[in-house]
Amino acid sequence: MAKPAEKRIAKFIKPFRVRPGASVHLAKDFDPGYKASFLHKKESVDLLHRVNGLLVDYQARLAADDQHGVLVVLQALDAAGKDGTIRHVMSGVNPQGVHVSSFKVPSAEELNHDYLWRYAQRLPGRGEIAIFNRSHYEEVLVVRVHRELLDRQKLPDECKAGNIWKRRYRAINNFERHLADNGFRIVKLFLNLSREEQRIRFLRRIDLADHNWKFSAADVRERQRWDDYQAAFSEMLSHTSTKWAPWYVIPADHKWFARISAAAIIAHSLIEISPQYPQVSAEVRDALLKTRVELEAEAPEGAAADPYQAEHPEEVSVPKTGTAGGRPSRV
Ligand code: AMP
Ligand code: MG
Repeated sequence: MAKPAEKRIAKFIKPFRVRPGASVHLAKDFDPGYKASFLHKKESVDLLHRVNGLLVDYQARLAADDQHGVLVVLQALDAAGKDGTIRHVMSGVNPQGVHVSSFKVPSAEELNHDYLWRYAQRLPGRGEIAIFNRSHYEEVLVVRVHRELLDRQKLPDECKAGNIWKRRYRAINNFERHLADNGFRIVKLFLNLSREEQRIRFLRRIDLADHNWKFSAADVRERQRWDDYQAAFSEMLSHTSTKWAPWYVIPADHKWFARISAAAIIAHSLIEISPQYPQVSAEVRDALLKTRVELEAEAPEGAAADPYQAEHPEEVSVPKTGTAGGRPSRV
């Protein structure tokens, strides 16, 4: 993609980035209803399509390059649009190179280990993109809002003493730093939904029979803890937006805007990694060209020596050898 497009993406996503060290007050600092004045919903479909194309291309390069991995962390309140964002942003990307992990209430086996254990098992390999639909951040969100969940984690008393949340922020920052130091890029997206828009989306889930499965009584109970969640999100953003893994707060009241923003932020990270298709050495290239001559000589009667070159002369960088089968070829 041309340089100006990269610059435009960088400029577009800048307001969403949480400056490392900033003290965040979510309600005051970020507007869930924001949409850029220069972008309209109608154009956004085409734009998302183009940014998608960019992701498809970069994901293929990431896989071929096989050095870096990307971890996309998605956090949000219920009905903020995590699933839809994943579906739209990653559409068209080669499924072999991407895996999505959705984290639910931890199992007995998971509770038998330290709280980062289950997340560590789902990290991306080199060349891969892993998406966490909910993540290790639940350990300082839902577990913080519902103290009884912490009790289920079977921690010895001394590990619960003092400010356990500060220790968890530190552990999470160190965990992410370790990943960054080893070639893994962490892209953290928080979908920021307003209380009123959540109400509207909950009602829609009740109104439409096909959407009933998405709704549970637990969602309403969580909504009653709105202020506690806002406080937990604000603290999390203040303590875990780091130079090596910054948070982005995406305005989520307009789904189309949230999707294009998420796609742009992921694309930006891939552009920064700048993965390249591996180039073979001069010796390997020479050997390939020799093999090419042999394969061309095997062309059956009437066939072009190299049908691909005949069809796509502009793409092929090797000289035409002119070797063809028995009869003159089409070219
Ligand atoms: P959903 O994303 O709607 O399928 O719901 C998953 C549920 O799992 C949510 O209610 C989360 O709060 C809950 N959950 C996710 N991670 C944890 C965790 N670490 N501890 C407790 N509950 C969790
Ligand atoms: Mg849910």
